[in-house]
Amino acid sequence: MAQSFSMHVAAIIAAGGRGTRVGFGRPKQLLEIGGKTLLERSLDAFARCARVQDIVVVLPPELVSRPPAYLKSVEKPIRVVAGGARRQDSVANGFRAVGPDADLIVIHDAARPLVSDAVITRTIEAGWQFGAAIAAIPASETVKQVLASPWADEPRPVARTLPREQIYLAQTPQAFRRDILRDALALAAQGVDATDEAMLAERAGHQVRLVDGEASNIKITTPEDLWLADAILRRGGALPAGTAGVGTGYDLHRLVPGRPLVLGGVTIPSDRGALGHSDADVVCHAAIDAILGAVGLGDIGRHFPDSDERWRAASSLDLLGRAAALVAEHGCEVGNVDVTVILEAPKIRDRIDAMRQAVAAALGIEIACVSIKGKTNEGVDAIGRGEAVAAHAVALVRRRG
Ligand code: MG
Repeated sequence: MAQSFSMHVAAIIAAGGRGTRVGFGRPKQLLEIGGKTLLERSLDAFARCARVQDIVVVLPPELVSRPPAYLKSVEKPIRVVAGGARRQDSVANGFRAVGPDADLIVIHDAARPLVSDAVITRTIEAGWQFGAAIAAIPASETVKQVLASPWADEPRPVARTLPREQIYLAQTPQAFRRDILRDALALAAQGVDATDEAMLAERAGHQVRLVDGEASNIKITTPEDLWLADAILRRGGALPAGTAGVGTGYDLHRLVPGRPLVLGGVTIPSDRGALGHSDADVVCHAAIDAILGAVGLGDIGRHFPDSDERWRAASSLDLLGRAAALVAEHGCEVGNVDVTVILEAPKIRDRIDAMRQAVAAALGIEIACVSIKGKTNEGVDAIGRGEAVAAHAVALVRRRG
């Protein structure tokens, strides 16, 4: 859908439940996967989504006066309100806190911490186009409707088999134009009970559309779901709980006159600089490959391809910070990085601490955890002739929590 959007979108993160059903003795939205709570992960997804302007978080009343600290670090306007007795009461409280300028409200259950930006964006776009849209996935199993059985200990009798191709399993996010959500919540206030807002909108006579959800957008309801969520989080990379990984990186760029020589984010006075897209900073490029390699997340080209306009002119120090954020999203943190720069001239000795400082800041770690060393190639081969600069890096990355 390539239309432009001038709508104002508010997100309601429903985390008002006290449910300890999951069996860990605390509200499930405060359970952690990969060192972050379900609430924090859900909130992050909406904080990152470009379509969302502001966020209302519905918390259990006892948490409203002492909300989790990470709520303060969200870079979008955020309001915290107390939940009610039922889910729909919590959402109604959230709706009352939504600013008057919001045209579309997207509701998400904090117990679905793995929601992707693509699903959020799809739901918002369809909600704006059709008035009401929810993420859903097709049923992969055959669904039986059962008769009420008079005896709890007796196998239930099947009434009929529902046509599977017509069965979809509702997820969140669910997005509604403001007037439609108002109608839906008015029904809820009249005593209609619902397990999601879409059901209320349907009852209020509005057509709700389905967009593709994702099988990985699971709802955490049992301890097994936490294990599953952890496994999903680690797919395509990241480390098992309690482990650390090491990775290596290598990069080389040709040196040519008329280009700046940027190493570790620091511009070094030189009659020639490294040729390449971006600033061709071999220290950052090697360090990125090392930290991505430590958690099995591929390499710089996979995440920041120079065919993508966004990264062509990017500062490599900024990409290093983004790589560290990617590692953090996978529940891991960088322990230390050690880099060897191979450059014939100029000498970089007196710029090394500035580079370490810049690299440490980009990675969000202490300067003591960043080592950078300079070598020459003793006049041998292309580097020795001053035709290229190279760097080797090693990184240790730990799983958090
Ligand atoms: Mg490079």
